[in-house]
Amino acid sequence: MSTDKKVALITGGNKGIGLETARQLGKLGITVLIGVRDEAKGEAAVTELKKDGVEARAVKLDMDNSADYAAVAKLIEKDYGRLDILVNNAGIFLDGRKGNETTKTSKEILQKTFNTNFFAVVGLTQALLPLLKKSLGGRIVNLSSILGSNTLHATPGSFIYDAKTFAYDASKAALNSFTIHLAHELKDTKIKVNSAHPGWVKTEMGGEGAQLDIETGAKTSVELATLQDSGPNGEFLHLGKALPW
Ligand code: NDP
Repeated sequence: MSTDKKVALITGGNKGIGLETARQLGKLGITVLIGVRDEAKGEAAVTELKKDGVEARAVKLDMDNSADYAAVAKLIEKDYGRLDILVNNAGIFLDGRKGNETTKTSKEILQKTFNTNFFAVVGLTQALLPLLKKSLGGRIVNLSSILGSNTLHATPGSFIYDAKTFAYDASKAALNSFTIHLAHELKDTKIKVNSAHPGWVKTEMGGEGAQLDIETGAKTSVELATLQDSGPNGEFLHLGKALPW
């Protein structure tokens, strides 16, 4: 089956920035599929989105279960024939709110963080690329963080110079590397790949003390998911502003 409406998959779409990104994309008339690891949470989110007039559907997608990637690709192929937008939004932060000494960061925390924030994104994106290539203008948005900026970490005086969140930061730096490599590989296709920093956003991960409300926090993802053909490719952006890698 194929559809005239654009189709977007947003991973980790049951809450936080992912759910709001789904809402904003849905309000633009895009069919949104939200990837969820907990089906009950997914159904609750779909009910919420439908109340806002959004065409939404939950698909089972545990980023830590690589068997789910092919299953999701098969479902999208069967029901929509292509994928226009992939927002790699699901992510975890395990370093603890106050962070930890880099030398005390355990291999277990590093592995878990890299599994979800990096390996899973690479695996899912690889599985969905054939469907994105069928779009008239595929868009891939990787939810990174300013904490993934090696340049800022290495700049004395920068606000993240003394950051103690090594596992998360390194996983997002690796994700940024994926953005760059993939954008270069796909430069002669219609697909654009960018990294997004949403800002510090009031979600379960960002906490109550964060600067941005959730509507603003989803804006960078929405902008990059709906880029014109003349838009940026292989960049790291926050609300239209390029950030240092
Ligand atoms: P939340 O913690 O509020 O939401 C994270 C989402 O990811 C949830 O839907 C969660 O599902 C899902 N998720 C986590 N692990 C998996 C998994 N293994 N499989 C499937 N889904 C999973 O985070 P935010 O909304 O704040 O963050 C969204 C993205 O933005 C993340 O990548 C984060 O790193 C990034 N970011 C956030 C910032 C902030 O200030 N909030 C700042 C910079 C970047 P479940 O409900 O089942 O746990």
